[in-house]
Amino acid sequence: MPKPSSPANTGALRADLNALNRLVEISVMLASTLDLQPLLNYTMQAATEITNAEAASILLVEEGSGELRFAAASGADAQGLIGLTVPVEHSIAGTVLMRRQPCIIHDVSQHPRHFQRVDRWIDFHTRSILGVPMTIREQPVGVLEVINKRTGRFGEDDVRYMTLLATQAAAAIHNAQLVRSLEKAYEDLKRLHKLKTDFIAIASHELRTPLSMILGYATFLQEEAQGEISEHAEAVLNSALQLSSLIESMTNLRYVVIDDSELELQPLPLGGLLREAYREILPLTQAKGQCLELREPPAPYFIRADHARLSLALTNVLHNAVKFTPEGGVILLSAERSGDEVWITVRDNGIGIPPEELERIFEAFYQVEDPLTRRHGGLGLGLTIARAIMERHGGRIWAASAGPNMGSRFTLALPLLPSQQEGQHHQ
Ligand code: ADP
Repeated sequence: MPKPSSPANTGALRADLNALNRLVEISVMLASTLDLQPLLNYTMQAATEITNAEAASILLVEEGSGELRFAAASGADAQGLIGLTVPVEHSIAGTVLMRRQPCIIHDVSQHPRHFQRVDRWIDFHTRSILGVPMTIREQPVGVLEVINKRTGRFGEDDVRYMTLLATQAAAAIHNAQLVRSLEKAYEDLKRLHKLKTDFIAIASHELRTPLSMILGYATFLQEEAQGEISEHAEAVLNSALQLSSLIESMTNLRYVVIDDSELELQPLPLGGLLREAYREILPLTQAKGQCLELREPPAPYFIRADHARLSLALTNVLHNAVKFTPEGGVILLSAERSGDEVWITVRDNGIGIPPEELERIFEAFYQVEDPLTRRHGGLGLGLTIARAIMERHGGRIWAASAGPNMGSRFTLALPLLPSQQEGQHHQ
């Protein structure tokens, strides 16, 4: 054994230090990318460089089947290997994986487990192999191999470096795989979401034509018929009207995906908008014995808005206030300035909203009530549409409530027309 100061020992220490420095560099690099292919390539390049080998390959365990599959390989023609599987029981990589221990084969021709078909696949002559397991939280996820040491034989130092490299690489590869599967799940979700939206658009369109026939004939019957028949016709008409409003909200879901260019923006007086909404909702509140109060804005504020769409957002919120407030309840519609915005507020003293639901109610089809036992009608789209419309106008909408049976407050915030933004509040 060389003395501590002998040149041979110094040389070995220097080589070790170089390899460790390189490993540190590599681990920084591995930690900084989430793209699988570059990670695999970089790992193989580092493995061949540090162990002075001719080629390297990475085999990963397939989720589900548990097969060991080539994910990357370097060396002549190695690309042909990618995607091929090797038998876990009859290959060196499989042995490394199962035993979870590094394995050196100095002469593969003497080794019963060498899976020679791989050499034939790519016309490569394997002489020696060093394989180390890649594990994540003690679970084997793959094998990193280097093939044919250029000078000498694979030794303990090579095993040490490769084990360090494989640990770093396994963590990085695992993260990259997680990101990939998240991306895929996101793409799947987007596709599903589009399917759902398309289906709703088609279904609501298709339902409209027969429904307008029913509405037309029911109106006609109700006007013409006498006595009991007229009552029956009225029942048909009322149900058809109800159906029509459901289909209307399905159709309005398209506002969630419209372009800004489809909006017909123009300066609008806020007071007029509130008065119109008030007039539209008043009969409903009267029918339910509720009190609807309009508190006019303190000044003639102007906003830039698409009249029909903004009205829809506001009436959706008002309809909810009527629906979720018991008979005899109070609904207050008001507006005031807040900085460079106007805040339209709809307050009711109805059933209220639990704090954990205040954001969720804006999701499409979400309703606080259990769908199987709910007492109120609707599709759970009104607020989704209202939020989409508000956002298209550069505004916001949010809900507040002190909790169940404590009433709710919805605020629709919109930027004031720029000419009104600066200076004093208009009185
Ligand atoms: P829908 O009214 O058709 O159910 P929305 O998207 O308009 O759909 O509302 C979603 C859910 O938000 C409602 O089902 C209800 O649970 C809750 N919600 C909305 N407005 C109120 C309100 N004023 N008071 C209590 N709950 C409300």
